[in-house]
Amino acid sequence: MRFEITAKDAMGRVGKLQTPHGVVETPALMPVINPNIRFIPPADMKKYGAEILITNSYIIYRSRKLRETALEKGLHGLLGVDIPVMTDSGSFQLMVYGDVEITNSEIVRFQNEIKSDIVTPLDIPTPPDAEYGTAMSDLEETLRREKEAEEIHESYGHDNLLSIPVQGSTHTELRRHSAREANGLNGDVFAIGAVVPLLDSYRFADVAKIVLASKSILTPTKPVHLFGAGHPMIFALFTAMGIDLFDSAAYALFAKDDRYLTPYGTLKLEEIQYFPCSCPVCLNHTPEELRKMNKNERAYLIAEHNLYVSFEEIRRVKQAIKSNELFELVERRIRAHPYLIQAWREIRNHLELLEKHDPSAKKVFFYLGRESVFRPAVKRHQERVMQVEIEKDEIVISSDSGIPADFYLRPVFGVVPAELMESYPAGHAETYDDLEDEAYTVAVEGLKKFMDANRDKKIRLVVDDKWRRYLNEIQN
Ligand SMILES: [Zn+2]
Repeated sequence: MRFEITAKDAMGRVGKLQTPHGVVETPALMPVINPNIRFIPPADMKKYGAEILITNSYIIYRSRKLRETALEKGLHGLLGVDIPVMTDSGSFQLMVYGDVEITNSEIVRFQNEIKSDIVTPLDIPTPPDAEYGTAMSDLEETLRREKEAEEIHESYGHDNLLSIPVQGSTHTELRRHSAREANGLNGDVFAIGAVVPLLDSYRFADVAKIVLASKSILTPTKPVHLFGAGHPMIFALFTAMGIDLFDSAAYALFAKDDRYLTPYGTLKLEEIQYFPCSCPVCLNHTPEELRKMNKNERAYLIAEHNLYVSFEEIRRVKQAIKSNELFELVERRIRAHPYLIQAWREIRNHLELLEKHDPSAKKVFFYLGRESVFRPAVKRHQERVMQVEIEKDEIVISSDSGIPADFYLRPVFGVVPAELMESYPAGHAETYDDLEDEAYTVAVEGLKKFMDANRDKKIRLVVDDKWRRYLNEIQN
């Protein structure tokens, strides 16, 4: 296996991806290198935290000088690096300009000849909101090219990895179809494509729908790349939905426009009085100093900051997976923008998928808002409580932990057996007073299911006015 998963939380994973130029730990961010533009040297990328880069094979192919150097010295020789490098195929140019001067088989062969670590077919990136018929005929052509790429790739020995794009515009049934076909090919990485226009317009919920539809089908043992996603604000969210690879052109594009990345959004240099960051750039310069520099010098420094802060967020996400606190991190991050909250709420339509991947043994449950009730720990607890064998004919359920009872009523979780009051999740949950309605309604739903499952028992409910109010609402 070329991908080994070493830790899991929510639908996120920490994994090891083997490539000819070494092992990459995921979730990974691949800085985009434009071989035509002198900016941050590819060899410096390790310094910021990069373990893998991505560049565009079509740009290299089109320039005679770059093409000849790449064929002679290899892609790594051209860029002057020894770490893994993935190549894109020109699909992005196809989306922007509507046409490219190369065929799928030519560009797949070329990527193999220059020894790219991850090769990408020339898929058709259908834009969002395309007509169903257009999206379908584009997808049929993409599927044909993927099959062709697979055959060419095999003929080169398949030492390097093959990426299989998932297309289908904003039609989730086409994304699922594309994912099903991708499972049948001998690829190593799945790449969810053509979401950049959605990300650029903050349509995060539409991206979430596409990601979740694709993930519901894609073989879970292979890594998934969200093509064009490079803003640190969305790493936690989409990692929790099962994305393993991100790529960032944003670090450079934003920097050239005086835009400063943070994990909670983008700031404009002109509006910053104090840098909220301790990277070498932000420690050694003031915003005022940067504003006085010439444009190129300034763009370079902002790009450096953008890289530092992006990799810092990747490490934070990995740590959250390792310590099973990814839900907590996502629920904090989504507070940065209403559309991120909306995107995360898409998970409600895929709770079974989430439950299938999320590990059940964790240490803490921090309730951080109404989205916390979506966590599988809540549903699992309620299902487990229904299975509890009760010997007595009469049981007492109390909302007041001060009085003796067989079960206690807790917001979020519902019925908690007295002997589990110190156990995860309910016993290890930290909440606050005056919780949102959802925390009580989900608990009362759990209570109702518990009472239905124990209809043969006499149940005495000892509840305060607050609980009574929610109980009445449910009953009415
Ligand atoms: Zn900084």
